[in-house]
Amino acid sequence: MKRLLLATRNKGKIEEFHRILEAIAPGEIDLVGLDQFPDTHDVEETGKTFEENALLKASQMCKATGLPAIADDSGLCVDALGGDPGIFSARWAGQHGDDEANLQKVLAQVKNVKGSDRSAYFICVAAIVLPDGTSHCEEGRFYGTLLDHPVGENGFGYDPIFQPEGLLISSAQMLAAEKDAISHRGKALRAIAPHVRKMVAGLG
Ligand code: IMP
Repeated sequence: MKRLLLATRNKGKIEEFHRILEAIAPGEIDLVGLDQFPDTHDVEETGKTFEENALLKASQMCKATGLPAIADDSGLCVDALGGDPGIFSARWAGQHGDDEANLQKVLAQVKNVKGSDRSAYFICVAAIVLPDGTSHCEEGRFYGTLLDHPVGENGFGYDPIFQPEGLLISSAQMLAAEKDAISHRGKALRAIAPHVRKMVAGLG
């Protein structure tokens, strides 16, 4: 089994990466968590795009551990907010990772926006970086509209206020496998998987 570092501490993402990569390449990749490298520091997301941030996270953690690393940068883009919170999704209400405060802030910002004008999408850019500096990125998107209050217990982040296109439930009411099949992260990881396999297979 080839070792691949998963460069995130977000529990929701960790679960999705494990599920999706295991479904694509069963038993091929040993996804190593950052918990095995307690001395690594969080990467400052100074990039201006999802791609820059995904590459920053993967390359800094690859450098710190010597392992090939995979990371993503993702977020919610709300059309009525000009694409915000976008790359700032995880810290939209100030404190990094406060999911409830973040979604309440978005709900307050769109409270006067009605119907199809509440369109939004999740985006995920997945990046792999090898110790020799080689890298590859893939993007996935997940379109829908914003609900006016949170519904559902599954998923994480903005899932309780996001209603995927064509469905009458929030993404926090979807089963894990249902979300993976159509989500931004599912699409980005399925697109990057063949590159991950090829790139990691070439390592000693
Ligand atoms: P980052 O990629 O770690 O900078 O943070 C992404 C942020 O976007 C998360 O903390 C969530 O707030 C949001 N997000 C990304 N993907 C999802 C998802 O699948 N469901 C709900 N929220 C998400």
